Amino acid sequence: MPELLPDPSQIGPIAQPPFVILPDPVRLFRRRAERLRHLARESRLAPYLIFLAELAEVQAALPATLPTVTPPPEARVALARESRMPPLNRLSLARDADMAATLAALLAAADGIAMPEAARAALDAVRGADAETRGRLLANVLSDDIPVEDAAPHLWVAAAVQVHAARLAASLDGERLVPIRVGVCPCCGGRPATSVVLGTLRIEGARYAACATCATLWNEVRIKCLACGSTKGISYRALGEEAVIKAEVCDACHSWVKILYQNKDTALEAIADDVASLGLDALMGDTEWRRAGFDPFLVGF
Ligand SMILES: [Zn+2]
Ligand SMILES: [Zn+2]
Repeated sequence: MPELLPDPSQIGPIAQPPFVILPDPVRLFRRRAERLRHLARESRLAPYLIFLAELAEVQAALPATLPTVTPPPEARVALARESRMPPLNRLSLARDADMAATLAALLAAADGIAMPEAARAALDAVRGADAETRGRLLANVLSDDIPVEDAAPHLWVAAAVQVHAARLAASLDGERLVPIRVGVCPCCGGRPATSVVLGTLRIEGARYAACATCATLWNEVRIKCLACGSTKGISYRALGEEAVIKAEVCDACHSWVKILYQNKDTALEAIADDVASLGLDALMGDTEWRRAGFDPFLVGF
C-alpha cells in the first residue's frame, strides 16, 4: 500500500486504548484554571473555585521558572517495572531537593493570589516553616492522607506536589509503564481523584482513572470499582437523569468514586469538576458508602 494513503486502522476509535496518558503539566494546569473560572460562573462555590483557578495559573507558570526535572534513573524504572512498583518513589520525593525547591517557588508565587484569611494564614505558616515541618507536610500529602483539621497548609503543599509530580510523570516513557494494582497510579503509586470516560475521537468511550497527584491517566475497564477492583455489584448515583458526573458505587467494599463522562461533555476536567460537583459528595455523604477518590482540594469539606 502506498505510504501516503491513510492507514485504515487509524480511522475511527482505536481498538486498544493506550494504557497511560501522561500529563503535559503546563497545558494541564492552564486548562484546569480555565475550567475552574468557567465553573465559578454558576456555582455557590464561586469564591473557592476562583481561588483554585488562580492557584492553577500559578501552577501552570511554575515550570518555566524551574530547572528541568531529572527523571528517575533508568535502573530504578526497570526495577520498578519488574517488581510492579511505581517508578516514582514517594518516600524519597518527600525529602527530594527539587521537590523542596518547587514548594519554595510555589509559596513565593502564590503570594499574589487573592485569598481568604485562613488560606493566607496557612500560606504564611508554610512559608515560615522549617525544613522539618515542610517535610512532614510533604510526607502527609505524599501518603494521600491529609489530616482534616489541618487541611489549609496541606493545600499549598499539595499544589506544589502536583506540579513536581506531573513534571516527573511527563519525563517518563508511558510505553514502559505497567499496571500495579487497582486504584494505584502506575507512575507515582497514588490514588485517583476521579475517573474520566474520554470523549477524544480516537479513544471515545475508554475510561481512565485520573491520578490526584501526578495527573497521569490510566486505563481501567468501564464498570469497575477503583477501590477494590470488583466488577460486580457496581451501580451509579447522580443528581438528575442527565448528569455527566456520577458516583460509581461498589457494593463489595462500600466505596464510591466519581466518574466524569467527557464523552458527553468534553469540557469536564478531573480535578476542577471534582471540586465543583461537591453536591454529589453531599448526596453520597448521607449514604453508607464512603468516598474513595482522593482530592487534596476537597479535604475538610
Ligand atoms: Zn500518579
Ligand atoms: Zn469496591
